[in-house]
Amino acid sequence: MGIRMKTDASVITNSEVTCFRSCPQKHEYRYEQLLRPLRVTPSLEYGTRFHKALEQFYKGEPVTEPDLIHGYRRVSGDVVAVEQEVAQRVGEFTFAGKLDLVVKQERIYIVEHKTTSSSIDPGSMYWEQAYHSSQLTMYRMLYPEADGVILDVQQKRSKKYAQVLISHSADQLERAKETLLDWARKLRYSLIPVRNTDACFSWNTPCEFLAMCEGGTTDGLRKATRRHEELDTVRGGSPHGADVGEVPEYEDRRAPGCAGCGRHDGGVLC
Ligand code: SF4
Repeated sequence: MGIRMKTDASVITNSEVTCFRSCPQKHEYRYEQLLRPLRVTPSLEYGTRFHKALEQFYKGEPVTEPDLIHGYRRVSGDVVAVEQEVAQRVGEFTFAGKLDLVVKQERIYIVEHKTTSSSIDPGSMYWEQAYHSSQLTMYRMLYPEADGVILDVQQKRSKKYAQVLISHSADQLERAKETLLDWARKLRYSLIPVRNTDACFSWNTPCEFLAMCEGGTTDGLRKATRRHEELDTVRGGSPHGADVGEVPEYEDRRAPGCAGCGRHDGGVLC
């Protein structure tokens, strides 16, 4: 039995880091004020249903929407885990996430299911971007027993599928861990939530907080119950990731007079 831990301020997910990197103001609304849109985008809704179908498929349960995964080819190997929450302590933080699937072939691999509107043909930019994705390197950090991540992708319009193994060297993983820690400190210790207006219409979709930013209205938003609603428990003492034990109380390590430039590091005035 793992230790149940609440997902508090010392717990950081890749989604949170990505949100902060996109727009610190958006991070402030989403992860500090816990505001969330009442309605999810069609793309996010499709992705959630697709993941559910594959979760049922790999758990051997009846798939409630089989059309969504018509033509899907099973990833070979024995199923080790489905929808597994994992965590790892790095510095003063606990990084956490949920793995879609873990399989054992000759070696152990994390499997990440994705849907995309982009081309997934061999040599396309999609795979280059995936290789540099912080999500995959974070998953490797959270589940060190794995030797790589198999990206298991559906191209939404054509319903084509592709499975590609992404491997990173030990040096790349170490650098990615350091970068992640830098971002974690920046997002927790920064005081000023800078607005990145270049991100207001990313992916041709208006930001969920546009009305909030323009007029201060919370119409269409709800209050989340916790920072990381996607995590129910994070298991300490499990074979997946290090023994993280109880999550310690979050300690605000900003030095007196800190202006929140984001360069502050553990009690040293920058
Ligand atoms: S509307 Fe633009 S500036 Fe405001 S939170 Fe969203 S991305 Fe940031």
